[in-house]
Amino acid sequence: MDYYNKSIDELYKELNSNKDGLTTEEAEKRISIYGKNILEEKKKKSKFIKFLEQFNDMMIIILIIVAIIMTLYGIFYSHEYTDPIVIGVVVLLNAIMGFIQEQKAEVTLEGLKKYTNSTCKVKRDGEIIVVDSSLLVPGDIVYFEAGDKVTVDARIIYETALSVDESPLTGESLPVKKIAKKLKGDLQIQDQVNTLFSGSAITNGRVTAIVTKTGMITEIGRIAVSLNTPYEVETPLEKKINEISKKLTILIFIILIFIFIYGKIILHYNFLSIIMLCVSLAVAAIPEGLPAVITITLSSGAAALAKKKTIVRQMTAVETLGSTDIICSDKTGTITQNKMTVKEVVAYNEDMLNHIALLCNDTTIQKDKYIGDPTETCLFEYLKTKKVNILEEITKNKRIIDAPFDSDRKLMSTINIIDNKNYMLVKGSLENLLLACNSVYIDGRKTKLTNALIDEIKAKEEELARKALRVIGFAYKDIKNIPANSDEVIEQEKDLIFVGLVGMIDPPRTSVKDSVKRCMKAGIRPIMITGDSLITASAIAKEVGILRNEEEAVLGSELDQYTDDELPEIVKKYNVYARVSPEHKRRIVNAWQKNGKVVAMTGDGVNDAPAIKDAHVGVGMGITGTEVTKSVADVILLDDSFSTIVVAVEEGRRIYNNIRNNVVYSLSSNFSEIFTILIGMFTGNTILLPIHILFIDLVTDSIPSICLAFEKSEKGIMDKDPRGIDKPIFTPFIYGSIISSSVIETIFVIITFFITKKYYSVDIAMSLALLSLVIQEIVYSFSCRNLKDSLFKQGVLSNKPFNYGILVLIVIETLVFLTPIGKIVSVTTIEFTLILKVILFNFIGFILYELSKVILKKCLKD
Ligand code: ADP
Ligand code: MG
Repeated sequence: MDYYNKSIDELYKELNSNKDGLTTEEAEKRISIYGKNILEEKKKKSKFIKFLEQFNDMMIIILIIVAIIMTLYGIFYSHEYTDPIVIGVVVLLNAIMGFIQEQKAEVTLEGLKKYTNSTCKVKRDGEIIVVDSSLLVPGDIVYFEAGDKVTVDARIIYETALSVDESPLTGESLPVKKIAKKLKGDLQIQDQVNTLFSGSAITNGRVTAIVTKTGMITEIGRIAVSLNTPYEVETPLEKKINEISKKLTILIFIILIFIFIYGKIILHYNFLSIIMLCVSLAVAAIPEGLPAVITITLSSGAAALAKKKTIVRQMTAVETLGSTDIICSDKTGTITQNKMTVKEVVAYNEDMLNHIALLCNDTTIQKDKYIGDPTETCLFEYLKTKKVNILEEITKNKRIIDAPFDSDRKLMSTINIIDNKNYMLVKGSLENLLLACNSVYIDGRKTKLTNALIDEIKAKEEELARKALRVIGFAYKDIKNIPANSDEVIEQEKDLIFVGLVGMIDPPRTSVKDSVKRCMKAGIRPIMITGDSLITASAIAKEVGILRNEEEAVLGSELDQYTDDELPEIVKKYNVYARVSPEHKRRIVNAWQKNGKVVAMTGDGVNDAPAIKDAHVGVGMGITGTEVTKSVADVILLDDSFSTIVVAVEEGRRIYNNIRNNVVYSLSSNFSEIFTILIGMFTGNTILLPIHILFIDLVTDSIPSICLAFEKSEKGIMDKDPRGIDKPIFTPFIYGSIISSSVIETIFVIITFFITKKYYSVDIAMSLALLSLVIQEIVYSFSCRNLKDSLFKQGVLSNKPFNYGILVLIVIETLVFLTPIGKIVSVTTIEFTLILKVILFNFIGFILYELSKVILKKCLKD
């Protein structure tokens, strides 16, 4: 016997509950018995394993092997162990640093997850409240409606027009109908039509149910599928960089083989020194830190976005946001405030209009507050001013059954008993409603709805719509037989009597006008897509600057006459789409994508999910969005605002720039190390010891590299056009920047080495060459904060984390060059004045880096 075999009364008994649900106290008790309603994710790797994984890196393995060889060499021949010890320490430090950074990134992302937790309506202490879904327990009475995700297994008590998407459980992609009925026999999940299962989504209608199972004992918990697994995928940029890293590594090994042969056969190096040379080259050249730095930049970017009210669900979005060309936005709630107020009423039968406004309405009253869709709550506000006793009327004139509003039909109907007579009450968009009417109430009596009258009503609508009012029409009819279900209600939506219309104002958000301007400046095209009427939509769009002339606005239905191949040309003409259905949204996204544009698309209703899924950046709504749309969105706006999208795009651009800066910085220092070593080899000198390379690569380089991730956006970042969908990260400009800067760095190191070698010992010359490289890397890291404009324009000290990083670095370098600690990395004691001279000389590098920006920007394409 399973729950689906029982009657609801049996369930109440068994689960120790009733139609008023549990008390808060009882629910808390049950949490301690059944545990929280969560699906445990796949067992996480232990911290220790994660730490060990840091060593799973080609370069680190090479270093460890080298350290072992050197130790053995020390034991049998030289009795010298500093080098292997230093390598050991550096490898360990590197692992610890990598581990800490990875942990930090993980904590950031875990923190973001809390925003995407789902909530659920539940009856507690006899009142309907909203709780976090994790707090549901068996016996709870819960409520779901179209767009909600089901997070428990529950038996249906009551439903209207319910259909459910169970594809995560059954693989069945079409929505299935579900009913409240006791079932017999031994049934498979897909046949248990009186039960809702965790992991499914409500696609239509409404349902009241009693929770039977929670957490890991739900059907989906038993098959142990975790539904939300974002944050896992590699972003395209990461993929590209990893590929480049791999290619470089292979290239380097080929070069190393050549050097090994050249050094051994032509220069007659001894075996150990040629091995050390090869190792130091490998360390210098393999950009091992780059993938890690990009991960850090992306995750710190996600944290920065969260502070600006955008929650990232897919890491790839951080990247694509920055290249957005088109923002397709809802009107209601995103461009407007979603605060409706009834402004004008045109009533042909005021009494009936008030009845419909009151009864064909899903607003609930909680302690004098109206909770629900603003389009409906404002009708209650209006009725209150008309002195209607709302509570009394609702209780008196019971609703028998209904057909909820959906954005395809654009109508809502209820069947109510008013003074012992059955009525069908309908409200909705004027076009659709008039199609369902055959008469109108005029001068106290029913009259045939003639074309002349239709024109008159439409003229009234237009008058309201021109004032940017959202218009809703009202109609009714008497019925004899009460429809048995919602489908039958929808069938009855015909031969109605029109009684009037209401115009409500929903003012634009104050920030939107400026945001639209910023979009235009940034080469981004804002597009409004709405279910509202053409005239209302145009009026609002004009107000915020999205629409410049009437020709840019079009009805969704117009798109139906074009094929998918024709649409890409057509969409170029329009900035406002009105009376659209969710299917139109999808087609608009796909058409723009065919034009090679990066499209961001917002959506709140269940039916918007396909369009959001298709868009490059699917944008979910934190406040009004349904769980279903949120679960397919790439980012979620906490405040639903259009302006937040624009801010997020700017963040995206900043993050992308910072990654590029980082790539340039990391590769340029790698190349200058290679150049220096090779020049040394060909001139018969050792300019840098292997240990120096290790020190530079793993200590000096990595600090500025991480800090570059925190750079603020450059001035005028939103004055440029979007970067384009497939623009490679390595443009001629980027190649030029890497090569020119690494050449400059190398020249300074070489000059420093050869001049000092003339007057001082080779040891001192080597140490000063190291110092020169250190200074070049510090100086160049400042320049890298902005590859095109001067550091002074960017602000020399404007990046705080960077300043601290450099400070730490300076402390480390002071210890190395001015105290005996330097011995560890083979730095000899040097006079202070000499050090000062070298530092001053190397600062000239800064001027060259800054000057080269001007030339590179002019001569090379980016
Ligand atoms: P949007 O969210 O883009 O404004 P909707 O799909 O919510 O578009 O609304 C489209 C039209 O449907 C509105 O202009 C209005 O006439 C009608 N409408 C909206 N909400 C309701 C509702 N709750 N009941 C009846 N009609 C509605
Ligand atoms: Mg809406």
